Amino acid sequence: MPWCEACDAELEDDQLTGDGTCPVCGSEPLEHRPSPWWFKWLVVATVIYLGYRSYQGVTWLVHHV
Ligand SMILES: [Zn+2]
Repeated sequence: MPWCEACDAELEDDQLTGDGTCPVCGSEPLEHRPSPWWFKWLVVATVIYLGYRSYQGVTWLVHHV
């Protein structure tokens, strides 16, 4: 579903003007709603945390085997 960044709104395909722009502000909508910045940071933080935990798990194993 197209997403207008300027209006911060989701648009139905049949709401778009003939040339595919936003009916409210006239700017070109994005294909999809972009992920919010905090979601990207959440993913990055999760990857770092899991990497750290698996590093801890490996060092624990090395010392206990
Ligand atoms: Zn708009």
